[in-house]
Amino acid sequence: MTERDQPILEVRNLSKYYEMGGSFVDSLLGRKQEVKAVESVDFELYKGETLGVVGESGCGKTTLGRSLLRLIEPTDGSIIYRQEQEDGTREEIELTDLSSSALRGLRRDLQYIFQDPFASLNPRMTVGDIVGEPLDIHNLASGEERNERVRELLEIVGLSPSHAYRYPHEFSGGQRQRIGIARALAVDPEIIVCDEPVSALDVSVQAQILNLLEDLQDEFDLSYIFIAHDLSVVEHISDRVAVMYLGEIAEAAPSERLFASPKHPYTEALLSVIPEPDPNWVGNKILLEGDVPSALTPPDGCRFHTRCHRIIPPEEYDIDQDAWESLRNLKLRVPDASSVPDLITFGRKGELVEDEAIEELSRLDEILRSAFEIPSPLSDPTAEDHLSEVVELLHGEGLDAAGETLDELFVSPCETVSPELIETERLHQVSCLLYDDEYRSGGLEVPQTQSDAVADD
Ligand code: SF4
Repeated sequence: MTERDQPILEVRNLSKYYEMGGSFVDSLLGRKQEVKAVESVDFELYKGETLGVVGESGCGKTTLGRSLLRLIEPTDGSIIYRQEQEDGTREEIELTDLSSSALRGLRRDLQYIFQDPFASLNPRMTVGDIVGEPLDIHNLASGEERNERVRELLEIVGLSPSHAYRYPHEFSGGQRQRIGIARALAVDPEIIVCDEPVSALDVSVQAQILNLLEDLQDEFDLSYIFIAHDLSVVEHISDRVAVMYLGEIAEAAPSERLFASPKHPYTEALLSVIPEPDPNWVGNKILLEGDVPSALTPPDGCRFHTRCHRIIPPEEYDIDQDAWESLRNLKLRVPDASSVPDLITFGRKGELVEDEAIEELSRLDEILRSAFEIPSPLSDPTAEDHLSEVVELLHGEGLDAAGETLDELFVSPCETVSPELIETERLHQVSCLLYDDEYRSGGLEVPQTQSDAVADD
């Protein structure tokens, strides 16, 4: 990588919201519902590097990629592209300020490779016309010069020049993705956003396309934003990786460091389930419970708190992480249960607990603690009193009262405080309260990864 000191693309506070059609009454009252697909995202891209952007389906990564090139209009934020001039200097261009025609001109520098090689190529155009179309749009070549350039591009991406006369349906998925890459390369771009370019392909073909992209990067000094839902796909191609969760960046770090020493609990969980080639590998898998919450109603505080295995215990209680996780589990499940017997059949991690009649308070207490693996008693006397209060309410008044009291008495800072993306070391940023001095000083343990442990030895 070169020119490390100044990024060629600098994104600040980028957000994309979609308005949802609410009910008729909502529209009469002027109430809007917004899906916050991307929320206040910051990152930089340096010349010649690949930034991997990873997250589960629905995390906003494709919306982010498309907003960057204004294929969809961002709602807010700044996207600065430093365009190279003929004299070698760079001029700052704010992409969000550009008119449509100015933006069209800039598409020479900023290209996009789409996820689906089956849907992204016009089936009625020959491959030659698909690859040559950007040359026509930007008046870069015509006649025999254009045809020669198309043949050259096809060869560069590993196809035959004779393929120019065929149609997309005559090609395999991998070959179609090569056509898409040739088309993106036609205008000699500086940055390419690769939107899940290999996710629709077989594993062996994936490796070929990844190798091709790496070769092209070396040959043409390209910079990539490489979007994927699978961390293992971006591991080798990325210089840095940004992990997204529910529209926000949870962690961003140089690739090697992120894989060796993840700091955010979400990254830690994603990495823990990547299978190792060793057939005897068992690993220490962290299974994320539940689905990604709706972007229409994202959780308050840290957006990951409903699934986080390291959620910070309430500051007022001296209880360990396991006890807190059990209480949190109880708190999360109470609103879903419709009766006391239903509640106790939920059990921890979905295991059914025998459905027993509950007549005595002490019996309910016992069953509840057993179902949710809550220690008896809790190490903190106040927490124990509060749990007893919840059990009494559950027994006497039912789920709603117990749920409300749990929500009032057991509150993690993660549920109320939105973590900032903070730099813990150069180029390593994390959005998690565990790395915020205010919460760390409260005696919290920052998770120690394997490589940290080795370094400490
Ligand atoms: S802020 Fe809390 S909930 Fe969010 S990732 Fe960190 S520990 Fe987990």
